[in-house]
Amino acid sequence: MFLSMSFRLRTEVEALNMVEAMGAYSRHRTVSLLKPRGDGKGYRLVIAPAVSGQAIAFGYMKSLVELAQQKNLPICDQCRNYESKGGFVKHGTDTSGDLENLVRSCIVEDVTGFMIAKAEVRRTSAIQFSYMTPDIDSSDVAIDPQFHVRAAKPGEKPQPFQVESGTAIYVLGVALDIDKIGVVPDSNGKPKIVVANRAERVKTAIQAIAHLLEGLSFGAKKARYLPVYDVVGAVAAISHPVPFMVSPARISKDMDYVTKTVLRASNYVKLFSDAKETIKLFYMDKENVVGEVKAENIDITKADNVSELVLKIIEVIEKSLRD
Ligand SMILES: [Zn+2]
Repeated sequence: MFLSMSFRLRTEVEALNMVEAMGAYSRHRTVSLLKPRGDGKGYRLVIAPAVSGQAIAFGYMKSLVELAQQKNLPICDQCRNYESKGGFVKHGTDTSGDLENLVRSCIVEDVTGFMIAKAEVRRTSAIQFSYMTPDIDSSDVAIDPQFHVRAAKPGEKPQPFQVESGTAIYVLGVALDIDKIGVVPDSNGKPKIVVANRAERVKTAIQAIAHLLEGLSFGAKKARYLPVYDVVGAVAAISHPVPFMVSPARISKDMDYVTKTVLRASNYVKLFSDAKETIKLFYMDKENVVGEVKAENIDITKADNVSELVLKIIEVIEKSLRD
C-alpha cells in the first residue's frame, strides 16, 4: 500500500522559516515557481519563500520520537537523545551496522531511513516530503522575497527585533510507502517483516504526520513567535498495488485539487485494471472550494479536519493489514 497526501496550510511562513542568524539579517530560503500568466499564454517566474523538505522531515522525526516514547515503541538512544546530539545522527559515524537489527530497534530509522557509509549499510526513507511552497496559482499576495529579520549579534545584548510576517496558503506533499515499514529485503531480495507489531508501527508513522501538522512540530523560534496557522484543505490517497500520487492541493482556475485528483485516480484505476489497482481517496475542505465529487470506481471520504482525515486513513490501512 502507498499513501500520498497534499495539504493546504494557511500560515505565517515567516516564523516557520527562520534561518539561524549570526549576523544582523537572515535571508529566507526561496524557491522559483512558475505562475500561469493571466492572459493564459505561458508562465511567469516568481521567487517565493519556502520551507525545505528537510526542515519538515526533521519535524516529522521529532514527532516520531515523541509518539514512540509515549507508546513505548522501540527507539534507539541516538534518536531518543537527538537534542543533546545536535540532530539525528542515525549511526552515520559507526563503522559497522546490521540493517535488520537497526530497523527492528528504532522506528525513526525504520521509517525515515539512514546511511552508515563505512559499513555500507543504507535504507532509503519510506516517507518523503516536498518543499512547502506557496500556492501562487490562487493568490498574488504576501509573496515578497525581501522579508528579513534583525537579530542580536553574538556577544551583544539581545536587541529588540522585528519580525515581518507574510501570510500565504502553502502546499505540502507527503508520500509514505507503507509496504516498507518494518520490512527489509531478505537474502533473495524478497520483503521480510522484521518487527513484532508492524501494524502499530504503520499507525504511528501515519499519526506522526498529523502530529507534525496539528502539533506544529516544525519551524523555528516558536517560543517567541508562535505563528498563526491552520490546515485549510487536504487530499489523500491510499493506492494498491501501483503507487498513485494525489494532485498538489493548489487551486487553479480550471479545477480544484480534489476534483482533479478524483479524475486522475479514476483513469489510473482503469489503466491498471489488469493489476487490480484500487484507490481510496480522502479530503477536507475548509475553504469550500471543492464541488461535488464522485467516481464509479473510487471510494471517496470527506473529513472535517486533519485529525479526522488521518483517523479515517488509519482505519482503512489497519483493516487491510489485518485482512
Ligand atoms: Zn534511531
